Amino acid sequence: MTNYYNENTIIYHNGAFVRAADAKMDLYSQSLHYGYSVFEGIRSYKTVSGETRIFKAEEHFERLKNSANALNLPYPYKADELIAATYEVLRRNGLSNAYIRPVVYAPTNMTFVVNTESLIVIEAWEMAPFLGDKLLRAMTSTFQRPNPKAFKIHAKAAGHYVNSILASQEAKARGYDEALLLDMNEQVAEAPGANVFYEKNGVLYTPATGNILPGITRATVIELCAELNIRVVEKMFSKEDMYGADAAFFCGTAAEVIGIASLDDRKFTMDWDNTVSKLVQTAYKNLIVENKQELINEIAGIE
Ligand code: PMP
Repeated sequence: MTNYYNENTIIYHNGAFVRAADAKMDLYSQSLHYGYSVFEGIRSYKTVSGETRIFKAEEHFERLKNSANALNLPYPYKADELIAATYEVLRRNGLSNAYIRPVVYAPTNMTFVVNTESLIVIEAWEMAPFLGDKLLRAMTSTFQRPNPKAFKIHAKAAGHYVNSILASQEAKARGYDEALLLDMNEQVAEAPGANVFYEKNGVLYTPATGNILPGITRATVIELCAELNIRVVEKMFSKEDMYGADAAFFCGTAAEVIGIASLDDRKFTMDWDNTVSKLVQTAYKNLIVENKQELINEIAGIE
């Protein structure tokens, strides 16, 4: 289990840098009782220049603000201040390859009325870049993603993750690595914490936005594909459309770009190494540290 914090860990909490072990959260918070909070999942990487860089920092804090607005949580914060605070959390904890978790949460409130203030915490813990090539076995979940008519599904809201937890736990209990969830129309949506792409004849397909969390990694993949001259089609499709595809992958901040071996025990047909998906994976690995050769050597096990 990840060591998320210890007695020396420093977090940013409502404008101050404090020890995680000393920080207090109100047990009467509306967030704890109703899952009513928004958060981000961000990564920082040690880049080839030796500097630690928060990957896509502006995009993540922009989404945090949009998520708060979508849920009517007051958001008095400025992106540049939060980014500076995040770098300070990394510095104070001596972190470079880290996972960063800002959460905007609600004060004491047992009713459903809008609050006049929000609280914020920024936590970070060590997380090495994912360099493996292991392909995942995925299963279609018996759980659907939340209906966008019931939730602001484009928001990264804590409560949505009960659905993610159920789906992921179910997949693991059945011996799979990860779940793939459909939307309320039985079209492919996303994984519990990542977006999905499949490959057919050199073209990548990914669910259109509307019933998914529009991932920042998904957007990055689409940008990389434009550079690599790989065609990407955003559309709704069924799990049957995915069966027998050449390849598929999940992508997200934590997962990065990770290949899928099979969906519901139906294997994707191409050797991963020969797919454009693998090219995307390599391009993403290069981008996060901004150096091609170093990472290729690292993957190959060359010092
Ligand atoms: N979908 C869900 C449900 C997620 O939790 C995540 C992770 N934030 C993603 C997609 C991927 O988003 P991102 O690339 O911004 O991390």
